[in-house]
Amino acid sequence: MKRAACHEAGHIIVAFKLGIRVESVRVANGLLLTDVWADDLDSTSRPKIDRYAFLAGGSLASNSSLGGDYDRGANAGTIKAES
Ligand SMILES: [Zn+2]
Repeated sequence: MKRAACHEAGHIIVAFKLGIRVESVRVANGLLLTDVWADDLDSTSRPKIDRYAFLAGGSLASNSSLGGDYDRGANAGTIKAES
């Protein structure tokens, strides 16, 4: 759970920095998930790099604070949101 919390914290910090509103942080099917305001993340005026930074923020945070081998479960949530 520690790695998942670090992962989601990474998303939240990037969202905060980029002015993307975080709606909620919740547990679904045992996975910790961060919901952001889709209009903020997907805004046509927002550079694509912001979206990628938000998505990468999770693994970057957990990897940099807890070391390699990122949380596949949490990352699966991110990939699913991406597709
Ligand atoms: Zn993620």
